Amino acid sequence: MKKLSIVVPCYNEQENVYDFYQETQKYVKEIQAEIEFVFIDDGSKDQTLSILRDLANHDENVNFISFSRNFGKESAILAGFHYATGDAVILMDVDLQHPPSLIPIMWKYYEEGYDQVIGKRNRKGEGFWRRHLTNLYYKVANQLVEISITNGVGDFRLLSRRALNAVLKMSEYNRFSKGLFAWIGFHEKLIEYDNQVRMDGNGKWSFKSLLNYGIDGVLSFNTKPLRVAIHGGTYITIAGFIYIFLTLINYFLHGIETPGYFTTISAIIILGGVQLLFLGIIGEYIGRIYCEIKDRPHYLIQEKRVKE
Ligand code: UDP
Ligand code: MG
Repeated sequence: MKKLSIVVPCYNEQENVYDFYQETQKYVKEIQAEIEFVFIDDGSKDQTLSILRDLANHDENVNFISFSRNFGKESAILAGFHYATGDAVILMDVDLQHPPSLIPIMWKYYEEGYDQVIGKRNRKGEGFWRRHLTNLYYKVANQLVEISITNGVGDFRLLSRRALNAVLKMSEYNRFSKGLFAWIGFHEKLIEYDNQVRMDGNGKWSFKSLLNYGIDGVLSFNTKPLRVAIHGGTYITIAGFIYIFLTLINYFLHGIETPGYFTTISAIIILGGVQLLFLGIIGEYIGRIYCEIKDRPHYLIQEKRVKE
């Protein structure tokens, strides 16, 4: 019999873990497969870990890994993938925003031969600003990266063993799973579901963390932003020469008339801003090289219960 691993990162989710487990149980019964859960406690400060211990004591198919501190969802995903032993894995959030009712459907497509069965949420019930800003983000981001990331597609998906192994081969430190999944390719199947409101507790995304996530998404894939800097620099330089040329003609025809205070200040401000921006982009890449070169572990485990 085939085996399905359900990988679930959890960070301060004491209200959700048990409900998630219960709810998921209902649907995994529908499929013909051995099931294992791999929960990752991402350094929670609440009772998440003791609930996981409890679940593992009662159900031998429940595995968990507990990090020594909060390493972030991306590291949790990586750890879960590492310890998953299934022929396929499904990656899910614990707050039931990824409906477990899709598990049997994903499994069906897996058995039909798809390597990635991807949950795509429509953005029902989401705020006006968030919806429009994300739309804009995807437009810009897809211009800047070679892979194409579909709006509404997140981490919720099934991966076959070979797709999973492909993801595990990418050992980069700055991980942007959404992009990694898109990068590997293989046979993909999109299935749509209704946006769910978070079950309990608060989402842990602030505007700032979303912006950082967005920057990661663009920068972690290629060096195109540097290319944009070269283009921008070229145009500005050309514009500068044209301006000097016109000013010289003006000087020979009419002599010097205006002191040019406004132009000088505008040029300084704009060029200063542009230079800082691109210096920041270059710095960001160097920072990433620095991180990769240190080659630190992605996470540290302080307790685990897994079959090895
Ligand atoms: N999560 C995690 N580590 C973190 C933040 C979040 O493992 O540092 C988990 C969290 O417990 C949840 C999933 O990642 O299962 C998605 O988190 P959340 O619901 O806060 O994000 P959103 O649904 O807004 O993307
Ligand atoms: Mg959520």
